[in-house]
Amino acid sequence: MVIAAHPDDAEFGPAGTAAGWIEAGSIGWLVCCTSGDQGGEDHDANPFELAAIREREQRAAATVIGYAGVSFLHQPDGALANDLALREMLVREIRSFRPDAVLATDPETLFYDGGGVNHADHRAAGMAAVDAVYPAARNPMAFAGLARSGLASHKVRRLYLFWSNHPTIWVDISTSIERKLLALHEHASQIRDFEGLDGRIREWAAEEGARMGVAAAEGLRLVIIDDDEDEGPSVADVDAPLDPGGATLD
Ligand SMILES: [Zn+2]
Repeated sequence: MVIAAHPDDAEFGPAGTAAGWIEAGSIGWLVCCTSGDQGGEDHDANPFELAAIREREQRAAATVIGYAGVSFLHQPDGALANDLALREMLVREIRSFRPDAVLATDPETLFYDGGGVNHADHRAAGMAAVDAVYPAARNPMAFAGLARSGLASHKVRRLYLFWSNHPTIWVDISTSIERKLLALHEHASQIRDFEGLDGRIREWAAEEGARMGVAAAEGLRLVIIDDDEDEGPSVADVDAPLDPGGATLD
């Protein structure tokens, strides 16, 4: 499950990883906290119309990556808050889809090492995702109404944080980077220079790939919540997301 603040975050983020894991047999689900209704430069634009366009674009991009579906939480773009209401919405998503792994923005990234400020919504979505994963989703007494309505507690065993200044694993996306670019192109309302964008994405992926000796990679910060050993012998045939899926640098 990928949890993102805005339509297009998942594509700028770990789309190559998601596409590769889905190709390998995982089932993916995308949760988008806002509908990107502030993602424009015309102050007279109708935010509801923009939200509808961006949801359409996000659904098309998700189809390219291969997600089984997308949930929109319809929170306000530019004003996303990591409050209990958002946490409950994310716990509902997690307990419904029951993912082994959640991919979310690293909430500790305030300033990017390479320069620039990380959007407040990205930080809020990342922190909300972490708080929903642990402990709320696995605690049957947290949001007990969800459990009473049939959404039993669920343990997410891995967090993979993207846009991190401290990546710990690199996932080879040499075979999925084209799909990432195609998915990004679905966000046409946000892109002025498709070629320039492709060039930048390829350049970043090549830089990350150089760290593990492949043509293209995505760097992620892995947080292991439950060791495989904790689960007993039933995890002998774990699927892709439970494996770091790339080189580990210590
Ligand atoms: Zn964003």
